[in-house]
Amino acid sequence: MKRDLSKFIQLGILLSTVAFIFESCESQTSLEKLAEDSKDEAVVFVVERSSNEARLYAFSTRLLEATVDVSVSGYNLICSPSSKVVRGLSSGLSDPIVSIRSLANTQDFKFDYSRSWHVGSRSRKLSSKTKPHVLDRLPFDSHQEYKVSQGAFGPTHLRNSSTENSVDFDMPIGSLVCAAQSGVVIGFREDSAVGGVDDRFDSCANYIAVKHDDGTYAAYYHLKRHGVLVPIGRRVSDGDAIALSGNTGNAGGPHLHFEVFQYDSSGKSHSLPIQFKTSIGIVTPKTGMVMHN
Ligand SMILES: [Zn+2]
Repeated sequence: MKRDLSKFIQLGILLSTVAFIFESCESQTSLEKLAEDSKDEAVVFVVERSSNEARLYAFSTRLLEATVDVSVSGYNLICSPSSKVVRGLSSGLSDPIVSIRSLANTQDFKFDYSRSWHVGSRSRKLSSKTKPHVLDRLPFDSHQEYKVSQGAFGPTHLRNSSTENSVDFDMPIGSLVCAAQSGVVIGFREDSAVGGVDDRFDSCANYIAVKHDDGTYAAYYHLKRHGVLVPIGRRVSDGDAIALSGNTGNAGGPHLHFEVFQYDSSGKSHSLPIQFKTSIGIVTPKTGMVMHN
């Protein structure tokens, strides 16, 4: 069933306008509020409801590929396809994620739902979690060299299993970030201006995500505000400049956080061990190492 998304987009614009008016009347600048205002809202969830029926939609204007996870709770209701749904999302997707209907066809109809999303989709075939994924180059300009400020299994990367193999490069704000492997830009964020060392800033980082031809994904985090240089859907080759580094999100200073990952069939993210091809051969990035292409 085709649906017109324009009304949802209009609703989004209206809500942003209301939020802006509210913001301009506010003088509170606490960390809490900064983090709350800068949450990543790449996926918008909308509920369309009548007296005994409801439909939950999700759409995105800046993610080409994402997975949404929705759980519905309540009583006196039937969910279709089910009350727990993990589903791929394309921008412009127009079918409901879940349709909810009153069991007794009465108006006594209450429900609640929780939702989450992540960039990228689930893979049927996973790459090896032990054999390193070799990238065609380092994620920055050929003329530069940068220090690895944190390698795989570093203290902040161990906070969850989806980031354990990530690598941080010390890079001044505004440094060129280049694609480490060719692929298609499937998502980005560049509107955040907030950063600092606090878990509350976890969802405040600007980023760009590239899907490689082998089904793996690379994400480049903490980018400068308005620091994304390529549009969504653009095919990029390794070495192409794609962004400018920054300090947004949960970051102790300017740096680039780089990771390669995949999702299993249940939607769980797996961080892959990485190595880079360089002029001196294939190198495993280690904390403290100064690297160049
Ligand atoms: Zn990092």
